[in-house]
Amino acid sequence: MAYLDDHPNPHLAQQRPRRADPTGLFVVHTAESALDLLGEDTGAEGVARFISERTTYGSYHQLADSDSIVPVVEPWNAAYGDGTGSNDFAIHVSFACRAADWATMDRARRDAFIRNGAQAAADAAAWLKRVHGITVPAVRISRADSDRGLPGFIAHGDRDPGRRTDPGPTFPWAEFLDTFAHLTQGDPMADYADQLDRIERKVDRSLAFGREQRQEMRNRLKALKKQGRAEARDLDELLELVGNDEED
Ligand SMILES: [Zn+2]
Repeated sequence: MAYLDDHPNPHLAQQRPRRADPTGLFVVHTAESALDLLGEDTGAEGVARFISERTTYGSYHQLADSDSIVPVVEPWNAAYGDGTGSNDFAIHVSFACRAADWATMDRARRDAFIRNGAQAAADAAAWLKRVHGITVPAVRISRADSDRGLPGFIAHGDRDPGRRTDPGPTFPWAEFLDTFAHLTQGDPMADYADQLDRIERKVDRSLAFGREQRQEMRNRLKALKKQGRAEARDLDELLELVGNDEED
């Protein structure tokens, strides 16, 4: 459940079913909210509340601040994040701060913002992969490419240069895209566990094969012994070598 499902805006629905499939386009925003510098960072929650109460259209799929991610609109629905026609195929990720804050925010807070925003995008990218088979590359794309249906990231200001500038000229794109790339490259520990599983299954198979081979040899030796075609004493020694039935 996303925030607007629990807190529907009584004035205007700030989400609706998509009229087109998503293309893997992410539009990146700043919400232009005041930085919440005192105590707990309630920036994202505050913007989510604002979206659920406002009387004009404006919403995002995900909001991030320095200590939280608030899913506002589920990725299969359209959010009202862009006035230039991308809402039906875009995912809107927004930082609960102002575009001008990137330059002055302290390093730890900026890193935390970026980590949460990249995680929010990675969560939506996992859904895009699972449901639509779309792999989102960690690259910025042009407005023309975003309209051609290419996946990737674009600033809201690049979508709507006449009216918007967010997330601003000092937004740390390289850090954001690097973090996104890192988060979407797969979990190395999960890969490791997968490999261990495969090795274990292989060992089990060879052990089972070994047991079958030995049993077959025992059966053949016993048959020979029964037929009296070899010295009984030698056969007993051989049987000893192969081990008895109970050992396997
Ligand atoms: Zn915006």
